[in-house]
Amino acid sequence: MRYKVLILLLLVLMSLYAQYREYPFSLKKLQMTYQCWSLKNQPELQLSDWFNATMDSTRMGLRATNWSAPIVWTGTYNELVLANYYEKHPVAVGLIVFAVGSYIWYYLGRFLESANMFFMVNQKVIIYVMLDDFSSMPWIDLSRHRTLKIFRVKQERRWQDISMMRMKIISEHITDHIQYEVDYIFCMDVDQIFKAKYGLETLGDSVAQLHTYWYKESPNKVPYERNEASEAYIAVGEGDFYYHAAVFGGTTTQVLKITQDCARAIMKDKKNNIEAVWHDESHLNKYFFLHRPTKLLSPEYCWDLGQNKTPDIKSVKLIWNYKNYNLLRRHL
Ligand code: UDP
Ligand code: MN
Repeated sequence: MRYKVLILLLLVLMSLYAQYREYPFSLKKLQMTYQCWSLKNQPELQLSDWFNATMDSTRMGLRATNWSAPIVWTGTYNELVLANYYEKHPVAVGLIVFAVGSYIWYYLGRFLESANMFFMVNQKVIIYVMLDDFSSMPWIDLSRHRTLKIFRVKQERRWQDISMMRMKIISEHITDHIQYEVDYIFCMDVDQIFKAKYGLETLGDSVAQLHTYWYKESPNKVPYERNEASEAYIAVGEGDFYYHAAVFGGTTTQVLKITQDCARAIMKDKKNNIEAVWHDESHLNKYFFLHRPTKLLSPEYCWDLGQNKTPDIKSVKLIWNYKNYNLLRRHL
């Protein structure tokens, strides 16, 4: 009888051991499961948690649009609240930049070095560089959490086409792989330099950049496409703001929609022998007129140092790099 009990006990122990081998018990796993479960039950970040929309007398900048999208200026956001939230809800951010022809050696190095220093500090970042000549790729020492991915694109004959074809190429790359790699995307011109922290306050579903030259103008005076035959046409009296195509972004889903729609409109215009006055920027403005962005960035996020700094420009995060048209030989 005792024998049988012993054998039974042995069998139980052996089966327990077998189970343990397959599913080893780990305190860490238990903790992670618990964390996942408790995160799901944590409230989402509300705009009022990190954004201060109240105007003060020293500032002239508008802080919200009439469709209630925040306009992010220095002093409107709480960095600490954002950092704490995203530490518990980590995200990966993609930064897409094109450098074709002379723009590689003229701009790419400084853009990448400054992005490494100031773009989404402490967050996971993948920088996607699209260029036509791998051998000219500058060497960049990246900080931790940063990855560089390089892809070849073909050189277009006209600079306008390089600029416009970005929309199509970005949409193809998002579909192929970027959608599985990051949560948010920024698409930027390469002729720019980061000057200060460009952080979590800029993340949103669809993000548009107020243009340095036009942010105080009424929509009637901005250079929207006025040719009715163009897909980018916006009638006089319509429109909200003039957005700069040197910076736009959002979730991968939204950026895919933006770029697909703009690429479709550009191709349709091309078929009809039409080119919008400011190329891809005209089409982006039309898109954001039809599908209003959920967040706007103040001109501090894309400033031209050639402009006089008015008191509303407190801390400049990104500046335009100089254009030397003779050197760039871009007007072919
Ligand atoms: N671009 C490029 N090589 C060119 C022309 C344009 O790589 O010869 C890319 C580059 O990323 C650049 C963007 O297309 O920043 C838009 O062109 P550009 O900056 O010259 O337009 P602008 O700022 O004058 O509107
Ligand atoms: Mn540019």
